[in-house]
Amino acid sequence: MDIAQERRLVTAVPGPESLRRLERKRQHVADGVGTMLPVFVVAAGGGVLQDVDGNSLIDLGSGIAVTTVGNAAPHVVRRASEQLAAFTHTCFMITPYDGYVDVCAELAELTPGDHAKKSALFNSGAEAVENAVKVARVATGKDAVAVFDHAYHGRTNLTMAMTAKNMPYKNGFGPFAGEVYRAPMSYPFRDGLSGEEAAARAIDVLEKQVGAANLACVVIEPIQGEGGFIVPAPGFLPAIAAWARENGVVLVADEIQSGFCRTGAWFASDDEGVVPDLVATAKGIAGGLPLAAVTGRAELMDSVHAGGLGGTYGGNPVACAAALGAIEEMREHDLPARAREIGATMAGRLASLQETYAVIGDVRGRGAMMAVELCTPGTTDPDPVRTAAVAAHCHAQGVVVLTCGTYGNVFRFLPPLSIPDALLAEAFDVVEEAFAATA
Ligand SMILES: *Cc1c(COP(=O)(O)O)cnc(C)c1O
Repeated sequence: MDIAQERRLVTAVPGPESLRRLERKRQHVADGVGTMLPVFVVAAGGGVLQDVDGNSLIDLGSGIAVTTVGNAAPHVVRRASEQLAAFTHTCFMITPYDGYVDVCAELAELTPGDHAKKSALFNSGAEAVENAVKVARVATGKDAVAVFDHAYHGRTNLTMAMTAKNMPYKNGFGPFAGEVYRAPMSYPFRDGLSGEEAAARAIDVLEKQVGAANLACVVIEPIQGEGGFIVPAPGFLPAIAAWARENGVVLVADEIQSGFCRTGAWFASDDEGVVPDLVATAKGIAGGLPLAAVTGRAELMDSVHAGGLGGTYGGNPVACAAALGAIEEMREHDLPARAREIGATMAGRLASLQETYAVIGDVRGRGAMMAVELCTPGTTDPDPVRTAAVAAHCHAQGVVVLTCGTYGNVFRFLPPLSIPDALLAEAFDVVEEAFAATA
C-alpha cells in the first residue's frame, strides 16, 4: 500500500487549504448538496483519507459503505484502467460487451439461493430499487408496494415515496409516487417484540390496509441503513418472506448498504437463510464506481417485455470492470471473514464503551456494519445533541465517523475491510476519548 497507514494531523480539521476550497464550493455547488466533513481529499487507501492540508484521517465510513474493498483497491484500479484504455462506452443496449455479462454471471452465483437467476445493471441504488419495483409490478400484474418504518431506498420520486424520513430526503419535494404503503419494522431496542410478533404486526397492517391481492412486492433492507442500522429481531425476515411467498407477493431485498461482504456474509439475507425473489445491490459492488443491479428469479426478471429495462449508462464497461476487480478482491482476501473479524473487534470495543457511558442505549449490527444508539440514560429518548458532539470531536481528531437514524442519534461504523487492525484500534481509542470529552 503506497499511502502510510497512520492518523496524522498537521493542521486543524478542516485545515486552511480545505477551508479555502470550501469557499469555492459555496460559490459553485448548490447548497442542497451538503458535506458532513469538509476536508478535501487528494488520496485514499487502506484505512485512511489524505487531505489537501497533509492530514491523514482514519476512515470509518467507506464513503457510506461503498469502498468496502478499500479505496483505489489494486484489482479495481487494474481492471478499470485496462477497460478505460480499451473503450469507455458503447451503451449495452446498442452493442454489448463481456464485462456486463460477467458481472451478471457473478451476481447469479453470489446472491442468495441456487435457483436460476438473471440480472439487469443500472447506475445507482435508487435506480435499482425503482427497477425492482417495475419488474415486480409486471410479473404480478399488481400495483402496491410495501415498505417499512425507518426505510431508506433513495432520492428519486418513487424511492422518496418509499423512504421514511422527511428531513432531509423528502421535505418539499412532493407530490410523491402513489401506491406505496408503510408497515411497522421490527426494532428490538424500541418495541421489545420477538421477530415473530413484529412480523405478525407488520403482516396485519399489510393485510388490513393493502391486501395481498393488491400487493406487487415487499421491499425491505435486511439490516436498515440510513434509518439507524436497525437489525430486525431473529425470525422477522423469515416470517415476512414466508408470508410473501404464500401470498404471491414478490420479496425484494434492498441489500444496497448491507450487501457485498459488509455484514460478514456475501449478503445480509444469508444470515437467516432468507432467499429473496429480487435483490437490489449497489454501493459496495464496484469499489467506488457507480454501478447497481437487480438480480432475481429468471422467470420474474424475464416477465418484462424486450426493451423495458435499461438506460444509457447502466452497466458502463468501466464500472463493470471495477466490479469484477472488487469481487476479485473480496474472494482473494476472504472479505466476508475479514468483516466478521472487524465486527468482533468493534463489538468488543462498543460493548465496553456501553458499560462506561450510560448514554449508549443500544449496540447493534453485524460484521463490519455496527452502530450505537444514544439516548438519555435509562430511557429510549434519543440524544441527537450528544451524538453530534461526539461526531464533531472524532472529526476534529481525524476520525471520519457517520451518523444516521430517524432521530439522528445513531453512530454507524462502516470501515473499509482493508483497514489495518492497529488503525481500527486507534480509531476506537479516539471514539472513546470523544465520549469522555463530551460527558
Ligand atoms: C444508499 C442506499 C440507496 C440509494 O442508493 P443511491 O446509489 O444513493 O441511489 C438505497 N437503498 C439503501 C439501503 C441504501 O443504503
